[in-house]
Amino acid sequence: TLPARPTPISSGDFDTSHPIEVRKYLRTYGLTPPSVEGFEAQTQRCLALLELKKTPIEKYQYLTSLRATNVDLFYRLLAGNIKEITPLIYTPTVGEACQRWSEIYTQPEGLYLSFSDKGKLASVIQNWPRNVEITVITDGSRILGLGDLGINGMGIPVGKLALYTACAGIRPDATLPLMLDLGTGNKALREDPLYLGSRREKVTPDEEREFLDELMAALTERWPGCVQSYIILCSQCSKLSDLDSIVIQYEDFKNPFPSLERYRDTYTMFNDDIQGTGAVILAGFINAVKTSGIPAKDQRAVFLGAGSAGVGVAKQIVQFFINEGLTEDQARRCFWLVDSKGLVTNDRGDKLAEHKVYFSRDDNNGKQLTNLLDIVNDVKPTILMGLSTIGGAFDAQILTRMAELNDHPIIFPLSNPSSKSECTFEEAVKHTNGRALFASGSPFPSLEFEGKTLTPGQGNNMYVFPGIGLGAILSKAVNVTQDMIYASAEALSTALNEQEVAAGWLYPDIRRIREVSVVVTRGVIRAAPSARRR
Ligand code: NAP
Ligand code: MN
Repeated sequence: TLPARPTPISSGDFDTSHPIEVRKYLRTYGLTPPSVEGFEAQTQRCLALLELKKTPIEKYQYLTSLRATNVDLFYRLLAGNIKEITPLIYTPTVGEACQRWSEIYTQPEGLYLSFSDKGKLASVIQNWPRNVEITVITDGSRILGLGDLGINGMGIPVGKLALYTACAGIRPDATLPLMLDLGTGNKALREDPLYLGSRREKVTPDEEREFLDELMAALTERWPGCVQSYIILCSQCSKLSDLDSIVIQYEDFKNPFPSLERYRDTYTMFNDDIQGTGAVILAGFINAVKTSGIPAKDQRAVFLGAGSAGVGVAKQIVQFFINEGLTEDQARRCFWLVDSKGLVTNDRGDKLAEHKVYFSRDDNNGKQLTNLLDIVNDVKPTILMGLSTIGGAFDAQILTRMAELNDHPIIFPLSNPSSKSECTFEEAVKHTNGRALFASGSPFPSLEFEGKTLTPGQGNNMYVFPGIGLGAILSKAVNVTQDMIYASAEALSTALNEQEVAAGWLYPDIRRIREVSVVVTRGVIRAAPSARRR
């Protein structure tokens, strides 16, 4: 007389690692092969099956179906082989998966909300069967470097949330991949007979704002955020533990700034493209500055590129320099920004875009420098950052000059993808005699130099966003504050072990991501406003 089996049958019931008693209890005894396997054997089989698949997209599909049929095994496999499997479930393979999403679609993996559901979003959200602690949302309008992919962008929230589980241990059933079907500006997609989204033009920015306002309210109503729990904390402490709080991560929106400005102070939300990226670059930068041995006050940074990314990264670094003891004005003056017209100065004769004014120079003595080599000769920088989208802009002459000026020049070519990187790792090593402190936006391979293996740093957001999300969940923060984002960077910069530091790395080994995420999460929790902590 066994108790009735738990219903419904769930993914993983047929796991070949279940002991005989469990199989009997689940009434799956006899329905799986007799052997009771360990994780080693299961992993070996999964890896062999992956080997059999010829293309990355076939491997992606195999892993998708593994997650659907045995979620535990999928995550044990992913967490145990993070370096090898991440490229198959996230970049670069997820890019192709998104481009072909409607063609290869087999099963639901998240929630889709369409513009035509406006006014009824709360009731559609009710259809999601489980409690949610964290959601990643996108409208698919700027997927990686691939442009507007409409609802085909669903691969991004699915992949990011898989990394939340693999890297930070967030329960998979507490995650919600959320796709906003707000039309698409991609005409080819709208005309594709297999396209699974609505075939309308992209909604206007005003319509998008109204939709997002309703969405944010509906999500926090279903899964009350700390806005509510904090209020309840005062009067009904005992009920707090019953409450779920949802953390909302925005991802791959074409224009990410309005929603960040609008919601950052009212919801537990952050934007990984802006804040996660900024934090991960800052972490590598902090380690580069430490390794260079040159104090913040003597650092001189030339930025090629003064767009939203360049100015955003520079402002994060200002915060670091201030924490290192500089005044804000001293910190600001460590930067020389260069755009398509040359060095950004007050007397250049054009009206500067507003975001460039903060860093604009007034000490150029009437000189109007436009050529990067001339600027390097004039400024004598210790740091060269690239956010210009101009591939190869850090040429041999410029890199050689940086190496003449510095024992350890800090060279960060951050433009993506690798074809747009201002230089490659190989070029940086060759022209600085292996002395550059290097991190890039896109991956480059390690290389041998004078008998040593040199490994480039890559500012991969994966180092920080799982810890930011988990830190926000655990701290029950009302908002994801700038202090929490900054703390994620600072914590990451301390997460290297002795060997990594000795080898001159700027980021830890990605294989240690679970340990690293613990360090980042702890930093984020400590920075969460204490009055709002539970
Ligand atoms: P953006 O707004 O288009 O800015 C590009 C900047 O580069 C502008 O200031 C532009 O000058 C300047 N520029 C263009 N051509 C130039 C030239 N020939 N010489 C000097 N400056 C030139 O782009 P963004 O959003 O800031 O992004 C820039 C790059 O950063 C992208 O490649 C992106 O992939 C990368 N990025 C990387 C990461 C990362 O994690 N590694 C994160 C964010 C962004 P004007 O202002 O005069 O037009
Ligand atoms: Mn992104």
